Amino acid sequence: MATGARTAADLIPGLRLPGFHPVTILHHAADESPLRDASLILTGTRRGPVAHTTVASEVDPDRAPLDRALITSTVLGAAAALPVRELDRMARAQLARVYDTSTTAWRLLAAHHDADAVPAMPAPHDVRRPVRLLSGLYVCGDHRDTSTVQGALFSGRRAAQALLRDLGIRPGQGSQALRAA
Ligand SMILES: Cc1cc2nc3c(=O)[nH]c(=O)nc-3n(C[C@H](O)[C@H](O)[C@H](O)COP(=O)(O)OP(=O)(O)OC[C@H]3O[C@@H](n4cnc5c(N)ncnc54)[C@H](O)[C@@H]3O)c2cc1C
Repeated sequence: MATGARTAADLIPGLRLPGFHPVTILHHAADESPLRDASLILTGTRRGPVAHTTVASEVDPDRAPLDRALITSTVLGAAAALPVRELDRMARAQLARVYDTSTTAWRLLAAHHDADAVPAMPAPHDVRRPVRLLSGLYVCGDHRDTSTVQGALFSGRRAAQALLRDLGIRPGQGSQALRAA
């Protein structure tokens, strides 16, 4: 089972369901690029909801609508749950200061909200939750480790190793043994 935590908990009764941190991503289109490089700008969130922002079209021009710049901004925490209109208004005011330009004519292309974006890791956090529930049933993902890509990958490796052990295959024995199993 390599789904997100909520689906895993739905499919495996009794599996621990963690709390989550929400994230909202705002995509704005502008006539001109407000910054001619591909920096990721960490705003500090004191003067607005955006935690970090980048001119995504400076990273990959194909991502932007034709002849326009694409500015992608990330909102973390409680502000991510604000209504889109209000969030957009607050973000524009902040982004005008961050990029030192007017954002009035920017167009909001999309606002993607994910209420379950990242499993919360309140202390004390167990970074090695069991991935083998019983022989033949394994669960992996960021919610069994740390809430990162490497946490998800690491738990996947732990699950694969447990499965190999249950099948009596030594790691490194090769794909032939797996096929035979
Ligand atoms: C906006 C955002 C930015 C992030 N930025 C970073 C970052 O910069 N660095 C970092 O390390 N981490 C980041 N993360 C966290 C990272 O993306 C996750 O921790 C990681 O992707 C979790 O991997 P996973 O395999 O556990 O789950 P997922 O990547 O969520 O994969 C689960 C998969 O299961 C599939 N699935 C769900 N239900 C079913 C079903 N019933 N049947 C079959 N398949 C199903 C889903 O479609 C999905 O493909 C970010 C997360 C978000 C949301």
